[in-house]
Amino acid sequence: MADSFELPSRLAILPFRNKVLLPGAIIRIRCTSSSTVKLVEQELWQKEEKGLIGVLPVRDTAESTSVGSVLSPGMGTETGERSPNIRVSTSDSQRVDGINQRELIHWHKRGVVARAIHLSRGVEKPSGRVTYIVVLEGLCRFSVQELSARGTYYVARISRLDMTKAELEQAEQDPDLMALSRQFKATAMELISVLEQKQKNIGRTKALLETLPVHRLADIFVASFEISFEEQLSMLDSVDLKLRLSKAMELVDRHLQSIRVAEKITQKVEGQLSKSQKEFLLRQQMRAIKEELGDNDDDEDDVASLERKMQSAGMPPNVWKHAQRELRRLRKMQPQQPGYSSSCVYLELLADLPWQKASEELELSLRVAKEHLDNDHYGLIKVKQRIIEYLAVRKLKPDVRGPILCFVGPPGVGKTSLASSIAAALGRKFVRISLGGVKDEADIRGHRRTYIGSMPGRLIEGLKRVAVCNPVMLLDEIDKTGSDVRGDPASALLEVLDPEQNKTFNDHYLNVPFDLSKVIFVATANRVQPIPPPLLDRMEVIELPGYTLEEKLKIAMQHLIPRVLDQHGLSSEFLQIPEAMVKLVIQRYTREAGVRNLERNLAALARAAAVRVAEQEHAVPLSKGVHQMATPLMDARLADGAEVEMEIIPMGVNNHEISNALKSTSALIVDEAMLEKVLGPPRFDDKEAAERVTTPGVSVGLVWTTFGGEVQFIEATTMVGKGDLHLTGQLGDVIKESAQIALTWVRAKAADLKFAAAGEINLMEGRDIHIHFPAGAVPKDGPSAGVTLVSSLVSLFSQQRLRADTAMTGEMTLRGLVLPVGGIKDKILAAHRYGIKRVILPERNLKDLVEVPSAVRNSLEIVLVKRVEDVLEHAFEGGFPWRQHSKL
Ligand code: ADP
Repeated sequence: MADSFELPSRLAILPFRNKVLLPGAIIRIRCTSSSTVKLVEQELWQKEEKGLIGVLPVRDTAESTSVGSVLSPGMGTETGERSPNIRVSTSDSQRVDGINQRELIHWHKRGVVARAIHLSRGVEKPSGRVTYIVVLEGLCRFSVQELSARGTYYVARISRLDMTKAELEQAEQDPDLMALSRQFKATAMELISVLEQKQKNIGRTKALLETLPVHRLADIFVASFEISFEEQLSMLDSVDLKLRLSKAMELVDRHLQSIRVAEKITQKVEGQLSKSQKEFLLRQQMRAIKEELGDNDDDEDDVASLERKMQSAGMPPNVWKHAQRELRRLRKMQPQQPGYSSSCVYLELLADLPWQKASEELELSLRVAKEHLDNDHYGLIKVKQRIIEYLAVRKLKPDVRGPILCFVGPPGVGKTSLASSIAAALGRKFVRISLGGVKDEADIRGHRRTYIGSMPGRLIEGLKRVAVCNPVMLLDEIDKTGSDVRGDPASALLEVLDPEQNKTFNDHYLNVPFDLSKVIFVATANRVQPIPPPLLDRMEVIELPGYTLEEKLKIAMQHLIPRVLDQHGLSSEFLQIPEAMVKLVIQRYTREAGVRNLERNLAALARAAAVRVAEQEHAVPLSKGVHQMATPLMDARLADGAEVEMEIIPMGVNNHEISNALKSTSALIVDEAMLEKVLGPPRFDDKEAAERVTTPGVSVGLVWTTFGGEVQFIEATTMVGKGDLHLTGQLGDVIKESAQIALTWVRAKAADLKFAAAGEINLMEGRDIHIHFPAGAVPKDGPSAGVTLVSSLVSLFSQQRLRADTAMTGEMTLRGLVLPVGGIKDKILAAHRYGIKRVILPERNLKDLVEVPSAVRNSLEIVLVKRVEDVLEHAFEGGFPWRQHSKL
């Protein structure tokens, strides 16, 4: 123990380079240099166990030459040859000038007395050099009073720094010190318990903690872990107990924290490692299973095949670079990672898009194109002529920036099929993009990829579908796009249709420009008015107003019936629909501008015939694999009367078998009875107008809707009231105002019209007027009902019926002028369809009559009028009866 020895006044000094031996610590050093060997020999070896030496830290300097060696791990002992006369200053750390001026040694002023607890001597072979291995135990601190050389080593006059036993006992009574030592012991205990989890042999240290006095513990603990040289020196210098304890506590605590942090990091790293190792293992297993199953298309292969696909997609260089970047990102991702699949889908789209792939354009022959158009469409001479002109210009100048064709007309007039004929004539693929109800700009341009579930716009989607970059693209129902808070699709369309801009069309999802300049755009619309003017400006409008009965008949006989029969696996051998029956279908079952419903009704007849064929199967040997029909389907089918949309073609029956089945029987010829059975009772007839116009106050107007022209009845009635005007039938502001104007005109002219005596002019006295526009669910608006309204009111007040065979259209002014209106052609065709015989039109619409097919024009009496009085003149049977009396 520290006190069980006599401290001599002089001690041989072993210099310790950049290291400190603290009291209580034990070190093992190997002495090889001649000076240390001498020191050990003379001071320890010869004195046997009694030997004490002083260990003095030496600060390394740049100039010092190292002599000796380091034995103990991390411990160094160095000593040099130097002159014996060295003076020591009183500063803590001082410069000692070597006699040969070769080196500067900074001796520390304080050191530790050490006792050799083990010595062993060895002789190196073959040099015969003697070396010693010494195990030293630090005992107590000393301070150097004077340092002098003795032979090859140094000797110092020293004084003891540590307290004696008695002094210690006294100091330990200090309550501050007691508190400090308790704290220190707690921290030390903590460190021990942490270390205990890692090292088994910590029990000895624990025992020390209980037996040793705390001031020695401080030194021992600090000596047991690595701290910097400076910290070691300051520990050595802490002679004061309180100072020593608090310093030691700080160091122990720091060591504890560093162990904990290191532990945390290790745990984390271990956790990660084991997770990724687990993943790796599972992946290896998965691969092995797939290999075993012969199913090798794992994710890596997916990416590789994607890359191959991308390489053959013919992307422009800038797009290719972008795609490469995205692919690199994809490679770094795990398939489970969010964003992996969306990235895959995106790259698939890039690879699928027809960047360069184009269908080879045929050498355009105008004759072939005309044949195409004629074969697919009856009539439409002007429209076809315009298409041929368009194609001719394209032929002469393929990159012409001509306007975009826009077919405008009611549904079913052949707009779509004309566009597809253009594609066929050019030998290009055809793709239809429906714009009906598109209100969001993103529908055209796509959503940015930052949105979840983002998609490309309809154009890019369409191009992906059609897989060539030069199709004929039909922008269907371009008038049905609207704008709201989500942007304006029309402005995006404007970019699409502008040849200056569509070379670099930017879809938000795609995020790279796509060249749309090779696409031929064709648009369709039901009406021109809703198309935004800038968009309309880019297009050339070709109107298809609708067909007359005769045209429909021809279309049905030449195009629709052969097509419908073919679609149902029939031919004229099995089903014949005579012209007279088609005419009946047109008149009684359809009342439309186009031929879509007509085609549907013909298809219903064909389906019924197909069922009949199935019925005939009883005659066909069952060995042919034809299913026997258990119920008389035909009757069931025909009995329900209504138009049946369902397809009833028995399984296993093919066209060939149907033909065979029917060979034995005669063809089915559609007659009126079959029409009624299949299509139900007639929906329309010519007598409708006559039936509806049986009472005064009902007039027949002509209006224009997206479905073409329509006949619109107006009903007016009067009852006791307060002089109010009621209007019903989902009317817009303009039509309501027309009603007001008509009523005002009638009231103003009441006397002239002989509704009231000259003095008594208030027609509305004590009564209300109600005007209703039937088909109340359909919204209506526009000024063209003016003349119809006034006729209805005059008829009501005069209690005279209007002519049932006369329909009218025209805007009226307050002063009774009749102004021209739009949609004349459609309206006249509608009147014709309805079986109306006379049409009253504003005189200034005369120019529009040239557009009406001559067959229709000739079948109708067209009356042109300038003023409302003229309308009344022609609307009533036998003329306007009051005219001669009036001063109008
Ligand atoms: P839209 O696009 O105008 O609504 P579609 O082009 O879809 O009408 O035409 C409906 C059906 O009518 C198609 O089967 C079409 O072939 C047929 N069709 C329309 N007009 C004619 C015509 N003039 N000649 C032959 N078939 C026609």
